[in-house]
Amino acid sequence: MDAESTLAEIAENIRRCQQCELAHLRNNAVPGTGPANAEIMLIGEGPGFHENEQGLPFVGASGKFLTQLLNDGGLPRDTVFITNVVKCRPPGNRDPQEQELKSCGVFLDKQIKAINPLIIITLGRFSMARYFENARISKIHGQAVWRDGRLIVPMYHPAAALHQPKLRSVIIHDFNQLKDLISKEKERLAAAAASVNIGENEDDDATQLSFF
Ligand code: URA
Repeated sequence: MDAESTLAEIAENIRRCQQCELAHLRNNAVPGTGPANAEIMLIGEGPGFHENEQGLPFVGASGKFLTQLLNDGGLPRDTVFITNVVKCRPPGNRDPQEQELKSCGVFLDKQIKAINPLIIITLGRFSMARYFENARISKIHGQAVWRDGRLIVPMYHPAAALHQPKLRSVIIHDFNQLKDLISKEKERLAAAAASVNIGENEDDDATQLSFF
């Protein structure tokens, strides 16, 4: 099955899912949107009121800000895949619970596998925690790390700017740096791969790649 069909099947399974109490409370599940071959995947927290109404991610106030951040940063929204750690709205926008994260995590892992993005941008605490245990976003925001062949970039959730206006300029700055950061990291990856090839030709081992 190609990535698009696989994603459609995952989305259908998400819409039918009854694995936690959020299933009984939802109007619409929100599997995610974007091209199946997206190089960049953004992972937010969970649907809010508007997302639950429309079945689409990031369509409320923080979504509008996210769209602006992506477009202004030269990474148009329609070129990236956007989803969340939980696919149904937690009541009152409360934090997702352990069991909800666990059951939705299975869907998220399948989406990541199908899309196979080179870059994952985490938005908020819960998606950051998938890659950075006990990290504080105030310390690591905007700093990229290679993990298992993917570039993981933890970013502030766009809603943070709506709740803490002081963070707005920090978030805008991080998103404006993103495109350059990704280009530099891709160059670094290509250079490391080239040096491994040279090393292999000289019967060397491929230690450089372990750097990533
Ligand atoms: N916040 C999120 O984390 N995800 C959405 O889809 C909307 C708001």
